[in-house]
Amino acid sequence: MKKITIAIDGHSSCGKSTMAKSLAKALNYIYVDTGAMYRAVTLYALRAGLMDAETKEIDTERLASQMDEVNISFEHDEAGRMQTVLNGENVEKEIRGMTVSNCVSPIAALSFVREHLVALQQKMGLEGGIVMDGRDIGTVVFPNADLKVFVTASPEVRAQRRLLELQGKGDTTTTFAEVLKNVEERDYIDSHREVSPLRQAEDAVLLDNSNLTIPQQDELLLKWAMDCIED
Ligand code: C5P
Repeated sequence: MKKITIAIDGHSSCGKSTMAKSLAKALNYIYVDTGAMYRAVTLYALRAGLMDAETKEIDTERLASQMDEVNISFEHDEAGRMQTVLNGENVEKEIRGMTVSNCVSPIAALSFVREHLVALQQKMGLEGGIVMDGRDIGTVVFPNADLKVFVTASPEVRAQRRLLELQGKGDTTTTFAEVLKNVEERDYIDSHREVSPLRQAEDAVLLDNSNLTIPQQDELLLKWAMDCIED
């Protein structure tokens, strides 16, 4: 069976990674969460004192000169869950917290950060048999992807899902209003940045999952993928 390249883009917190992960599993493909890579660079910048978490000011010159020292990889934990590794350290939990979520979009708007990560992502997809999710996968990383999906849902639905996810991870302090503000801010920055703004590729299929259950969306996506594979 031919191994295709699948690009899943869309707004923040609309379940892209959940659907991309289960599609990759069903097809026995590699899954790459590119948002985790931008989050890992953000954590690196915060820890190195190259970004102020309050003002969001970034020392771009120093960050640019240190990009080669930012090594990002993925590994599976004992339960088979994908973990993000930054310079040898498992940072999965930290990159999902609100501090990184609030700082990631300005970091992802920097052209040198995008160039660095896009090159890594293209290398990961050389062989096909990959499901990659992000904001620019169908437009920039793999413009020739066999299947492109653009996912969205209302901001309120997305904020509610993200809040449940945070609570599931033990966060008892973050409120719905905070998460909604973060979702809306990231949508705005991601769609209005100069470099690779978030937009639906012309040949992408739109998937609004506001009213779909996870099994329904998995089934739909697998059907689209199988149609492409068997084409
Ligand atoms: O997908 P996730 O919400 O984890 O992504 C975090 C942030 O990384 C996004 O809000 C966006 O600013 C940035 N991002 C991006 N391009 C990608 C993936 C993520 O700009 N391909």
